[in-house]
Amino acid sequence: MTESPSSPPSSRPATLRLLADQVLVEAAYDRRPELLTNGAVDIGADGRIVAAGPLDVLDAGSTGGGRNRPETVLNLGGLLMPGLINAHAHTPMTLLRSVGDGLPLDRWLSEGVWPREGRMEPEDAFWGMTVGLAEMLSAGVTTSCEMYLFEDDIVDAVARAGSRVVMTPGVIAALLPGGEVEGRIEQIVEFHHSHHDPESGIHVGFAPHSVYDLTPDQCGLIARHARDAGALYHIHLEETEAERQLIIDTYGASATRVLADAGVFEAKVLAAHAIWLDETDRRLLADAGAAVAHCPQSNLKLGSGIAPTVELLRAGIKVGLGTDGPASNDSLDLWQELKLAPLLARGSSRDPLAMSPATALAMATTMAADSLGLDDMGRLKPGAWADIIRIELDHPALTPGIGDDLLSHLVFAGSARFVSDVWVAGRRVVERGRLLSIDVDEALHQARVRGRRLAHTLS
Ligand SMILES: [Zn+2]
Repeated sequence: MTESPSSPPSSRPATLRLLADQVLVEAAYDRRPELLTNGAVDIGADGRIVAAGPLDVLDAGSTGGGRNRPETVLNLGGLLMPGLINAHAHTPMTLLRSVGDGLPLDRWLSEGVWPREGRMEPEDAFWGMTVGLAEMLSAGVTTSCEMYLFEDDIVDAVARAGSRVVMTPGVIAALLPGGEVEGRIEQIVEFHHSHHDPESGIHVGFAPHSVYDLTPDQCGLIARHARDAGALYHIHLEETEAERQLIIDTYGASATRVLADAGVFEAKVLAAHAIWLDETDRRLLADAGAAVAHCPQSNLKLGSGIAPTVELLRAGIKVGLGTDGPASNDSLDLWQELKLAPLLARGSSRDPLAMSPATALAMATTMAADSLGLDDMGRLKPGAWADIIRIELDHPALTPGIGDDLLSHLVFAGSARFVSDVWVAGRRVVERGRLLSIDVDEALHQARVRGRRLAHTLS
């Protein structure tokens, strides 16, 4: 990041100013959220935020501080907030939406998902990603952390759609005939060299599938590469009770302990699911500075369980919200996770104070960004990327919106349908509900034809 999010307004000139009735500057887990009335966000030509604050303060800064007023000023009304961040997704699985419904995780993977993915062509992944990006951008999701194969085609789709991605190419031993795992790891090291380019919205990490798929040595080897590259290490961890038992039976220790012994926590780790950890495992993750991607809908749909988010947060672990793949959710609408996460936390602990709306919003924005190791997104602060969404407040479901109650409205009554406009790095990609950067009709056509082909090849 060029400047710390808490730094004062930059002296860089702003080229675009967005005005709104309300601006949610930052929803932080451990602080009161910053919600401004009559706020403004100034954006520089580099796509980063120059300043965000009350309009009168920014105006005073424009003249008194010697900055020129931005040449373009959009008076939008409504509410502006950071774009949502999907911390764990396999988005091209849009082509496999709802496949294998009702199967437990192991059979869902081996009978439903992997046979179809084994037949996927690069162009399938491109169009699966594109139709998923259409769904996510329309819902105000401006960044997703992707664990998948076909990384070239995925980043191509993201670049064309003008979105942002943390691309963590997957290593899945079950799909690689003997001896090819090391070759795949080398491929990802190369991909990181050639494609990691945050200025263009492409961040690259590594994604070993899981401890039950790879050996501890392989998990450790990938971690050393991720550490050396300063890249994210993204892995599925303790999604089901059976998986936990399998690892304990095989290695005599929990998956988290196996990873720790393999040296994995030398890297920046993002663990997806983390449902079945015990307290010692949670302490290991917390001490290592590892983060968790919480995917409540997928966990419920696959019957995996309910992640103990309250305990994770209390242990000091950062938690971001994820949808998981559209075959196990079955949507990429992060607003549903935003509502479900606090409901589950409160219901399972029988405590209505267990998770506040501000914490839920942080898990979809600020904390999600931090869980990916990226502090220059997820908040509308000077130096952060201008990934911004506008919420239409003129709707019965978001009324009356008094004070901080508005945050509760967003979490418990909010919905993707209220997202009217979206900017990524200051570039508008959704305008009054219309996607500007994707030919949606073409994406739908391609996804239907390709999804049907993948299904029929098997029958
Ligand atoms: Zn997953």
